Amino acid sequence: MTKRRLTRQQEQRIRQRQRQQVDERQKVDEDGNLAADSTGRAGLVTCNFGQQLEVEALEGPQAGQLFRCYQRSNLPPLVCGDRVVFATDQEEGGVIVGLEERHNVFCRPGASGQLKPVAANIDLVLVVLAPRPEPFLNLLDRYLVAVENLSLKPLIVINKSDLRDTEPVPVIDTVLEDYPALGYDVLEISAHAGLGLGRLKAALAGKTTVVVGQSGVGKSSLVNALSTEISARVGGLSGGAGKGTHTTTAAQLFHLDGFNLIDSPGIREFGLWHISPAQLLDGFVEFRPYLGQCKFRDCSHNNEPGCALRAAVATGAIQAYRLENCFQILASLQAV
Ligand code: GDP
Ligand code: ZN
Repeated sequence: MTKRRLTRQQEQRIRQRQRQQVDERQKVDEDGNLAADSTGRAGLVTCNFGQQLEVEALEGPQAGQLFRCYQRSNLPPLVCGDRVVFATDQEEGGVIVGLEERHNVFCRPGASGQLKPVAANIDLVLVVLAPRPEPFLNLLDRYLVAVENLSLKPLIVINKSDLRDTEPVPVIDTVLEDYPALGYDVLEISAHAGLGLGRLKAALAGKTTVVVGQSGVGKSSLVNALSTEISARVGGLSGGAGKGTHTTTAAQLFHLDGFNLIDSPGIREFGLWHISPAQLLDGFVEFRPYLGQCKFRDCSHNNEPGCALRAAVATGAIQAYRLENCFQILASLQAV
């Protein structure tokens, strides 16, 4: 295949655009090129400051070093976890020129109600529960449906297990009994007492993980407990042009002990946005074999004859409370 040559006019236009996009500080020469070391290299977006992004070099002699970058305007809004190609100058700044295809992207509604990406390329979602505040299973199911819809694997973590001896909580027993049978791993830990953290770290090894869960279950405590030995906190926020632009909802990627965590308030409140009833049903993993098997194609799974889901509840293949939770979530989605 022959390389398409750009006309002189096209080249000029591209350079002009480059010049507009690159900050003056970045010493762009008269042709619009970055003054030094302008070859593209692989990077990882570790934080988004609004106008600028923090990018960690993944290759070359500066691997591991952080660069404050702008992005070319032809790229979509970039987020923490994005793999990119970027060009640097001598001042630890640069321009992101390309985006690698994302495996998945976490979104949340922005001010205008439209979905806004907040993080990308997540491997695992830690869904944190605790005996206190007492969990609602339909909230757990909401998280699981959302995670299933991103084709991600959740890991259910029951924090504050140090409280379990003194405070029996039947709903926690239900999670421990029923959810492994659905194929979900459930780990009992205590961020405070340091219980189960070794097993948790083993489950996180080599992965990029986000932490979600109700307020008060101990997410901050857990992130802190996992970070204790960590010195390499990615995202030096001191100084530089981005100072003061760092918003509290910005997701940030942390390199911890053999794994990555992406954390932000925006992700912690992760929920079900813009999901269809069909996607909702599909998010209940044990329903899948029965979907499309009801006698009536438009079965509402309430009390129609020949409902495959109801039949599965009757045989015990589906827990009645899971179907009930599904209806509750459906009602809440329709109420929006
Ligand atoms: P977040 O809102 O999910 O980030 O929760 P926090 O990390 O702020 O924790 C909420 C409360 O739970 C705080 O009072 C913590 O001290 C407490 N907490 C967190 N982890 C544990 C734990 O393992 N055991 C006990 N007993 N309390 C914990
Ligand atoms: Zn049905």
